[in-house]
Amino acid sequence: MTDDTTPRVPGTTRPTHPDTADVLVVGGGIGGLGAAFALAGEGLRVRVLEAAPEFGEVGAGLQLAPNGTRVLHEYGLLDEAKRRGVVPETMVMFDAVDATELTRLDLRDLERRYGFPYIVIHRSDLHALLLDACRRAGVDLATDSRVVEYRTRGPRPSVVLADGRIEDADVVIAADGLHSVARDRFVGDAPVGSSYVAYRGAVPIDDVRDQRVHENAVVVYVGPRCHFVQYALRGGEMFNQVAVFQSPKALAGEDDWGTPDELDEAFADTAEQVRAGIPLMWRDRWWRMFDREPVDTWVFDRVALLGDAAHPPLQYLAQGAIMALEDGWVLARHAARNRAADGTVDWAAALAGYQAVRPEHCRRVQRTARAWGELWHLDGLARAQRNRILRERDTYDYTFVDWLYGPTALEPDREAPMFVPIPLDSFADAAP
Ligand SMILES: Cc1cc2nc3c(=O)[nH]c(=O)nc-3n(C[C@H](O)[C@H](O)[C@H](O)COP(=O)(O)OP(=O)(O)OC[C@H]3O[C@@H](n4cnc5c(N)ncnc54)[C@H](O)[C@@H]3O)c2cc1C
Repeated sequence: MTDDTTPRVPGTTRPTHPDTADVLVVGGGIGGLGAAFALAGEGLRVRVLEAAPEFGEVGAGLQLAPNGTRVLHEYGLLDEAKRRGVVPETMVMFDAVDATELTRLDLRDLERRYGFPYIVIHRSDLHALLLDACRRAGVDLATDSRVVEYRTRGPRPSVVLADGRIEDADVVIAADGLHSVARDRFVGDAPVGSSYVAYRGAVPIDDVRDQRVHENAVVVYVGPRCHFVQYALRGGEMFNQVAVFQSPKALAGEDDWGTPDELDEAFADTAEQVRAGIPLMWRDRWWRMFDREPVDTWVFDRVALLGDAAHPPLQYLAQGAIMALEDGWVLARHAARNRAADGTVDWAAALAGYQAVRPEHCRRVQRTARAWGELWHLDGLARAQRNRILRERDTYDYTFVDWLYGPTALEPDREAPMFVPIPLDSFADAAP
């Protein structure tokens, strides 16, 4: 397979590498590596093209609900993920202004219900775990390989790299993230700005012990136009925090939005427990929150979108990386189902199976994530009504998560039914 000695021939129109793969995966994030590992597990020759000079992940913690850990279990990677992460006991939501408890999930009971745990893990640990697994499975991993163009004409799809190389395969999986070149080429839409921005920070646990933080819980404080998330990472050695708020400068149309002065201002009226965490956030970088409108078609001839390239969500349901992992698992299952005795895959059938089931599920997640974020960030009477609804919820009522945390569907008729939202004005007498 290709290595640093691969001929680089700018401007050529023929593949420059003779030993082509069955599958090219563009993008070596969690989505791309998950798909590569799953497809290699089916005996396919898989090559990953990553634009960056090294494989890696920027950021801090990730929550993985049972629909994500179920996939890791299928891959034989769950025990290692649990060792590298934390398996919290509860998830608790508080009001960010008065710090009263609104609702909670008993994560031990949740594990019994869905068969797999809810874990939290540093995203670079999950990424490294997938990268190691890909290496062991013989996936060909190429860095410094930025794809700039996709070609679907001809017997095999191909990609053109920034240095002029051309590579082809039986199928190309575009897992190139929010700003996907493939999405631009095949759909042509633009990311949708939410005017919200995330600050992250992961610190040694000793730095927060005097703040009486919850070390065995995923904690979310929801407040007007802001929220704050906390949980321990890396076997409890680190503490992860995410502070998210709506930027007034973004709403005013200013370019320079989401700056640290806005962070301080956004959390100025929150409870002491929340304000104590804000100085620990990284202040030299922040993540502006974008999603995209859901699209129904992800497969374009022999090129398929996957992960954030296909369905970037706002992160309020903590499902973006999970959906990307599920995509790869579903695609590999359909490849296996459509594999002949001689090993060749009927890719038209496999991609049709993937296309038939994943866009609708991810559309639901993207839409619900937006609605969930709006609910978290309410103010005034609506905030009081939300709090009443959340406080009335029984800890062991799973109506609102069954559609999400249950087994990943392989066919559309296996997709779990959606929940029915409770109208906010069910509690018209709630006092603001
Ligand atoms: C604040 C925040 C918190 C989040 N929390 C959670 C959570 O708790 N749980 C959860 O499940 N999800 C969470 N998410 C979402 C999750 O991080 C993403 O959905 C997920 O990482 C997407 O993975 P991906 O592989 O599709 O894309 P990416 O991670 O963006 O990877 C894309 C890869 O493609 C490469 N690439 C890009 N362009 C090219 C090109 N042209 N050629 C070659 N390579 C290219 C990039 O370098 C990158 O390596 C969160 C997101 C944010 C912002």
